[in-house]
Amino acid sequence: MQASADLKRFLDAKKQDHRLIGDVERHLMRRPESDRRTDVLHPSEIIKSDWCHRYSFYLLKGGKKKQEKPSLRLQNIFDEGHAIHAKWQNRFYEMGNLFGKFKCIYCKETTFGLSPKECEHCGCDILEYAEVGLRDESLRIAGHTDGWIKGIGDECLIEIKSIGAGTLRYEAPDLLMDANHDLTKAWKNIRRPFRSHLLQGQMYLELAQRMYGDDAPKEIVFIYELKADQDYKEFTVKANFEIVERVFKAAQKVIDAVNADSMPDCNVSLDGCKQCDLIP
Ligand SMILES: [Zn+2]
Ligand SMILES: [Zn+2]
Repeated sequence: MQASADLKRFLDAKKQDHRLIGDVERHLMRRPESDRRTDVLHPSEIIKSDWCHRYSFYLLKGGKKKQEKPSLRLQNIFDEGHAIHAKWQNRFYEMGNLFGKFKCIYCKETTFGLSPKECEHCGCDILEYAEVGLRDESLRIAGHTDGWIKGIGDECLIEIKSIGAGTLRYEAPDLLMDANHDLTKAWKNIRRPFRSHLLQGQMYLELAQRMYGDDAPKEIVFIYELKADQDYKEFTVKANFEIVERVFKAAQKVIDAVNADSMPDCNVSLDGCKQCDLIP
């Protein structure tokens, strides 16, 4: 099914009356799939209200995720988000405040530290920030924060979010409605991080706490950038485990089910949801 859908798109890309875009589309479709792991629980997924325990059980047991290649439009959105992340991370790197894992673009080895100037393996000076991995091994939760900042007041984590009309429709439909679907007006009315971002941030703070104890940052700073005109906002949030306690409890339940080898029912809907419907 999926292979043929991809093939159809591949052929369609060829057919269209494009000077260059068709070739770009085909290039993207030939690129290997992203290597995002499916055998761990991702904080950004398990904080969602429609996170399906049954589907996660299936993936943790080695089930394969059905993945369609994103459309060119969606790929544009992903790549734009990445570019905005890299821009902010690079600023903190240049300032000497960015802490974490850096990957050498030549020898591919990792240098860990605070804005290192060069690769400690080959001495080259082109390093790419590989962020900070945050894990709870026993709960099989694994994620990355966008950054760990040292040397500007108390240490903090950062979470960078590029905001578009789609983000508002998904995260804050009320805000958009109140502004009569005027994006700029809705943006002006954002006064705190969106709920899912808050939950994600609290997950990272708690995971950092579990890994680094007293050395872990106690707050996270959200940097929002509006994709339409590059306006920005900043919000600081203090660690508060209570906000995500239930997410950790739910993760424990799923891991218990995996260890007991007993597939849980769908927790989203009585007759299954669009995620666990994908289980063959
Ligand atoms: Zn190197
Ligand atoms: Zn389900």
